[in-house]
Amino acid sequence: MRRLLLALIVGIVVIGIVWCVAEISGQVSVSFGAYDVQTSVPIAILSVIILVLVLMFLLRLLVGIWMIPGSTARWRRNHRLRIGQKALNRVLVALAAGEETGARKSARRARRLLGDNPQTLLLVAEAGRLDGREDEAEEAFRALTKLPEGSFLGYRGLLRQAIDRRDWAEATALARKAELAHPGTTWLRQQRAELALQTDNWADALELIGSDPRRVVYYIAAAEAEANPKRALDYARLAWKEDPTFPPATVAYVRRLRLAGQEHRARTTLLDAWAKAPHPDLAELFLAQEVDKLARLQAAKRLAERNPTHPESRLLVAQCALDAGVSSEARMQIEAARNHGVTQRRLYLLTADLEEQEHGDTEAGRLAQRAALRAAAAADSDPHWLCTNCSAEPLAWQPKCPVCTHVGTLRWVTASRVASSVPVAIEVAS
Ligand SMILES: [Zn+2]
Repeated sequence: MRRLLLALIVGIVVIGIVWCVAEISGQVSVSFGAYDVQTSVPIAILSVIILVLVLMFLLRLLVGIWMIPGSTARWRRNHRLRIGQKALNRVLVALAAGEETGARKSARRARRLLGDNPQTLLLVAEAGRLDGREDEAEEAFRALTKLPEGSFLGYRGLLRQAIDRRDWAEATALARKAELAHPGTTWLRQQRAELALQTDNWADALELIGSDPRRVVYYIAAAEAEANPKRALDYARLAWKEDPTFPPATVAYVRRLRLAGQEHRARTTLLDAWAKAPHPDLAELFLAQEVDKLARLQAAKRLAERNPTHPESRLLVAQCALDAGVSSEARMQIEAARNHGVTQRRLYLLTADLEEQEHGDTEAGRLAQRAALRAAAAADSDPHWLCTNCSAEPLAWQPKCPVCTHVGTLRWVTASRVASSVPVAIEVAS
């Protein structure tokens, strides 16, 4: 609407000027060289206007011809940019759709058209990885590390490749470079913690994991790996303070206390731990220094006093009583454990040993043993360590599962109703 009004106004003005000019009377005479031109004033004015317009047109034409090379280059550059952008979009779509070959081809084309920049290099690398061309991806990631604005992306990609190759030394070095390129990222912190675990650098891992519920495991592992006895004791103490009911933490602390010559502290720690959460590993440590069987029985009773009705206490005293030949005590404890609801394999094996000790090689003894062993074969499995990640059942606790290598996944399982996978021999000498 505005344009229409403007055109209307301009048209009126032009008509007005033409009308005024047409009204001007008189003659104009121009002489140049041998030529002498004479015309009316309106025609002269019109001629001058036309001449100016022609000169302006010629000037623009000359300028245009002069600018042709630059314009062509600009057009070609813009054309490459447009095609390159389209190629980039195709890479993104192909990557999202998982089309390995299409993504890689488009990424290489985009790189040719747009040159090396963080965007093209990253897409070339990711497309290469998707297509299984780790060499191409590595070349692109390395090129990225040379760009100031892309160095973190480059190191990040190289770090992922090194982790996939399980090249922990290279990965650790790359993680340090990535940290320098872009400090303080959460992702990198997690990666560095994972690398510290893979390289068993538990002290570094402790600094990186923050408030992880597995800190107690890290402390224990750090204590085991630490060469300096004082620092090892400190780590073990921290583990025990972190979770005094976790038997491996108590075991680690007690071992370090004993190495430091603090036997009294070691024993009181074991007694306190037994009161909180009895465990066979604690009993083994407590009785380790008792060689005489009767002395072992007395020590077992001292420990059991801290938690007298717990099945672990009952079974510990029963075993030591059997070893010491005090079968009446063993029978009493076994019966108490059974009345407590214990239906585990070890209870019936203890019963079989008890029957053998009490009745010897008699018909009644053999029958009782057979019955106990038959019951053991169908009984609940004994408490054991179980990996919550891969269901492995290692004999002893370790910071890492020996099968899947996950950290802190071993749990002490006591309430399994699954029958033991270990076959029980029920043959009794007759
Ligand atoms: Zn596992």
